[in-house]
Amino acid sequence: MIKLVAFDWNGTLLSDSLTATNADNKVLTEFGLKPITLQKFRECFDMPIQKYWVSLGFDEKFFLANSKTIHWNFNKYYEPMADKCRTRAGARELLKYLKQEKIGAVIYSNHIIPAIEKQLKRLKLNNYFEQILARPSEHDFSHMHNRSKEQKLVDYIKKHKLKPEEVLSVGDTEEEIEIGKQHGFYTAAITGGYNTAARLKKHKPDFLIHTLRSLVTTVKNINYL
Ligand SMILES: [Mg+2]
Repeated sequence: MIKLVAFDWNGTLLSDSLTATNADNKVLTEFGLKPITLQKFRECFDMPIQKYWVSLGFDEKFFLANSKTIHWNFNKYYEPMADKCRTRAGARELLKYLKQEKIGAVIYSNHIIPAIEKQLKRLKLNNYFEQILARPSEHDFSHMHNRSKEQKLVDYIKKHKLKPEEVLSVGDTEEEIEIGKQHGFYTAAITGGYNTAARLKKHKPDFLIHTLRSLVTTVKNINYL
């Protein structure tokens, strides 16, 4: 019985893969590095984000010394472009279904709470989530060198006394499948986000989906069959 759906934000609920690639390319060219394609972005994107930038050509020592500047510059380019991003197809339909069935929904993200809140309000999705589990502000740089959203979700689940098999983790990267597998949650991986389908398949998610809409049936099957 699914009682909580834990959604990743970037690339999962927000359709921003190309936007993130474009913002990354502005940073890369600013530092004299070669811009990447969307395919390369999907092949390389990883958390912590340091791993990703180094794979794109940053010298590790240079990155460590300049990580804050790189972070600020990315935000400067990314945030105005994110204001134009739409939700992934079927997001609203799925969220409406969960609300109607009184199934909880949270966002667990490596992004920043105020930035997510801003987009949720713009997209009129702010009433669908119990909580946003993410970095409290742009002054929190933890995502550069560590993975941190896993613990935030685990704490939330503990606080709400949920069993692992009552949780469905939905994400567009290897990270959310790894977290789900680690803790015994159901896992749904969505293609067309920040990772290639091949990378997602490697981790054998319970459900490999192409649109969020298909999770309505998935949740119905788990809860009522
Ligand atoms: Mg994502």
